This record gives sequence, structure tokens and C-alpha cells, in this order.
Amino acid sequence: MRIPNPAVDGQLKGKVALVTGAASGIGRASALIFAQAGAAVVALDRAAEVEDTVAAIRKDNGRAVALCKDSSHEENIADAIDTAVREFGALDVCFANAGISGGLVPLHEQTPEHWLEVLTINLIGTFLAVKHAARVMAPRKRGSIICTASVAGLRSGAGGSPYSASKAGVISLVQTTADQLAGSGVRINAICPGLIETGMTKPIFDQARARGTDNKIGQLNPLRRAGAPIEIARTALFLASDASSYVNGQALAVDGGLSSSHPIVPPRIP
Ligand code: NAD
Repeated sequence: MRIPNPAVDGQLKGKVALVTGAASGIGRASALIFAQAGAAVVALDRAAEVEDTVAAIRKDNGRAVALCKDSSHEENIADAIDTAVREFGALDVCFANAGISGGLVPLHEQTPEHWLEVLTINLIGTFLAVKHAARVMAPRKRGSIICTASVAGLRSGAGGSPYSASKAGVISLVQTTADQLAGSGVRINAICPGLIETGMTKPIFDQARARGTDNKIGQLNPLRRAGAPIEIARTALFLASDASSYVNGQALAVDGGLSSSHPIVPPRIP
């Protein structure tokens, strides 16, 4: 039995949401909170665990459909959007969130194939979700599209070159799409997470715990900690709901303040 939460319950009542990358981390937390907020959810991921996300939603009496598909193929994304309309009657929210890190490969070892893989999933996959969500949202004159970018898309130091370029591309995609959708009633925004403990960052956390240095994780941001997927999911809920009705074309950093500061040497506090 879930404890009632007025900040969540009913915020997306009667709405329909697509979430990509919904099997794990930020996408899974977002699919769950969207459903708690009253939305019917189409959960897409190439990993089979997307079925677990949908099972958890249904166990809580929510409505959800799982699609085990690759989000970087246009026919899969077009089908996911059409599934939302067919199964639940419309699409109000599209959270284009699926992504890969691509690892940290030294510049001289990076190949066009490596760049292409990261850009295809992180940027072109996001573009496809934006394109097909807008296709069904614009005629209804409403909808909210949310894309997961990253602080890595704002400046260097938070990921490899292709990853960072892909996320800078997502921010640009959001800005140019807000312009393209002018007058349509459809909003689009990006979330730029800082370091969040998810499947993608598990190796960082596992290694730090093994070394006993996990208390050092997140020390570069003013909150001095890493974030949790639910903290990004709550931001996605805000952007998905009418509470953000005048927020459009923005890249919102949710990073404990990491991107707000130049690098500093912390003062010694006696
Ligand atoms: P995660 O690995 O836990 O989840 C990502 C999900 O996306 C996985 O379930 C994976 O299977 C899915 N996915 C990847 N490629 C796919 C594809 N082609 N088709 C369908 N599904 C695909 O990691 P996460 O941290 O929750 O990642 C979510 C988003 O957040 C990503 O876009 C990531 O770049 C971004 N992000 C994460 C962090 C962080 O610190 N974790 C920081 C900034 C941005």
C-alpha cells in the first residue's frame, strides 16, 4: 500500500506518457512516478527489465504497456507513440531519456564507429522521439516533451567526448525544437542531471565502495553528494505537469549545484 503524496498524486491525472529508457535508473523512477501521478505509461527500453517496471506500475493499480525495443530506430519510436494513442487515447508527455555513456575512451583511440553509436542512441534517438511526439501533440495544441541531456552537455569534465557532444546536441535540439513548435501549444525542455546513481554509473559507485572512498563521491558539488534517480524523476514530473506551464525551451540542471560554480579549492573550516 503506497503512502498518499499530494505533491505527486493527481498531477498527471488522465494523461498519457511515453518514457524511453524505462527499465532502469532515471527512466524507471520517472515511469513509476508518472504512474503514481495518474498517467497511463508506455514504457520503452531495449532491456527486458522494462517488463518489471510495468509490472510494478500495474501492481499499484496503474495502467502501463511495456515495449522492449531500441529507441534509436524510427519505426520503434513511431510505433511507441502510436501505441500510446491506440491503447490510451492520446499522448500528453514524452520523456526521451534512453542513453548510453560510451565510456571514457582516450581521444586518439576514439573511432567514427564509437562516435556514431553514442550519437545514434543519445541524439538521433532523442530527435526521433521529439519528432514523433510532436506529430501527435501539435494537432491537439498541447503536450510536454522532456529530453534527458546532462551537465556533460554544458561543459567538459562529466563524460567522454562523444557523450558530451551528444548531450550538447540534445540541449540544442530542445532549443531549436521549441522555436519550431512556436504557436503549437507543445512545450519542450531538457533536464541536465549531475552524477546520479543508476545502472550507467554503477561502476563508479561500486569501485568507490570497494575502495572505501564512497564518501568522496559528489564532493565537487555544493550539496556534497550524488543524486538519486527519484530526484530527476520529480523534476521530470514537474516538467510533464501543468505546474510548469510557462517553462519552455530550457535546459534545467539538476546537479546539486555542480554547474553553478567555477572550480574552487574548498576553504578549510577549522
Ligand atoms: P541507466 O543505464 O540506469 O538507464 C538507461 C536505460 O536506457 C537502460 O535501461 C538502457 O537499457 C536504456 N537504453 C540505452 N540505450 C537504449 C536504446 N538504444 N533503446 C532503448 N533503451 C536504451 O542510466 P540512467 O543514468 O538512468 O540514464 C538515463 C539518462 O540519463 C541517459 O540519457 C543518461 O545519459 C542520462 N544521464 C545520466 C546521468 C547519471 O549520472 N546517471 C547523468 C546525466 C545524464
